[in-house]
Parts: sequence; structure tokens; C-alpha cells
Amino acid sequence: MAMKPDPAAPGKPSRVFFALWPDARVAKRLDELGAEAHAECAGRPTRRETLHLTLAFIGDVSPQRLAELIAVGNEVGNDVEATSFTLRLDLLGSWRHNRIVWAGAQSCPAPLAGLVERLNGALEAAGFAVERRPFAPHVTLLRKAQMQVSTRCVDPIDWPVDGFALVESVQSSAGAHYRTLREWRAGKGGEGADRRYAGKSG
Ligand code: ATP
Ligand code: MG
Repeated sequence: MAMKPDPAAPGKPSRVFFALWPDARVAKRLDELGAEAHAECAGRPTRRETLHLTLAFIGDVSPQRLAELIAVGNEVGNDVEATSFTLRLDLLGSWRHNRIVWAGAQSCPAPLAGLVERLNGALEAAGFAVERRPFAPHVTLLRKAQMQVSTRCVDPIDWPVDGFALVESVQSSAGAHYRTLREWRAGKGGEGADRRYAGKSG
């Protein structure tokens, strides 16, 4: 259905979410695990540069409301403690309902659960709809998998997390690609830095 242009809210909405983005080493390990899973399950592998872990999915927002999301990120990202921890990915599993195969964690680090809780709290306070289901940290490795896997332990991938990002998802025929709108990183010895990110796109 075509949307009527709203003169009070010009500009196209963006589809956005808060996420953790792995560094090159972790992305490589996840990519290798994805290749292993692909040999077993077929489906569409996530491209290496688009591997991520969603913290909070927001969906379509107007350009006006993006500023509110950045304020949410600032509120949460200013606490260095909350954004520095190690996430150990040591499970491979799949979900039947959406046919994805994922890398997950036997145990969700408390700072990760806390980060998600704080994001959801700040999002809700700012009037955004938040996820009610319990948070299940996972990185999607395959979509449209033809086979399921029984959840199993895999060689642990230790992911040093030191920040999070607000990301825009742009749909294309080749699958979604992502554009980092803003990134918050734990700076060395002091306040969490709020760094503008210069147009990384996946
Ligand atoms: P594609 O939809 O093209 O297969 P994608 O799912 O990665 O790719 P998006 O649908 O834009 O791209 O989703 C961005 C991120 O948000 C993904 O990690 C996705 O799993 C997650 N996500 C999407 N929709 C929801 C939702 N309704 N609730 C929670 N997370 C979601
Ligand atoms: Mg999707």
C-alpha cells in the first residue's frame, strides 16, 4: 500500500535496530561456522560483513525520530561498564518458525542482558515499542535453511564487545545491507565516547 506523503514528516522512514558488530577476527570465525552450517543445512549464508547480533529491533522510524534514538544510545552508551564484556558464542542451533540457523551462547553475560534491558527501558521511555519476548542473543548465520540442526556446542568464539551501534537496514534484492548510523564505544579510561561513524555500509 502506498503511503501518502505527510507534509509534517518529510523524508522516508528508515528501518533501524541497535546491534553489536563483530571485529574482523570474530566475523571470520562466525563466517567459518556459517560455512559449516551451510554444508549441513543449505540456505542463504549471511555475508561476512553483515554478521551481527541484534540488541533491540525498532523498525521503521521517521527521520525526525532518529534523533530520539541517538539520545537513547547516548543515555545507554555513556556507561562504559555496560558496553565492555566478553560474549562467548558456543552454540549452533536453528529455529523452525523463521528457518534461520544461528550462533548463540550457553550463557548470556550479565552485562549483555543489562545492556539490552537498559536499551529497552530507554526506548520505552522515549515512546518506542519494545520487544516483550525474552532476549535470546544470537547471530544469524543462515536464512531459508532447508534443514534444521539440533542445538549443539561448538568451539567457543570469544567476542570482545566494547560498544554497540545504531544501524539502518536497507533492503535490496541481494538481501539486507546495513549502514551504521552511530556507534558508541567504551573509550579508554573515561567516559564512553560517542563517535560519529563515517558511512560504513555492509
Ligand atoms: P532480511 O530481512 O533481508 O533477511 P535481516 O533480517 O537481517 O535481513 P532486517 O529484517 O532489516 O534484516 O532486520 C535487521 C535485524 O533485526 C536482524 O538481525 C533481524 O533478525 C532483526 N529483526 C528483524 N525484525 C525483527 C523483529 N520483528 N523483532 C526482532 N528482531 C527483528
Ligand atoms: Mg528480516
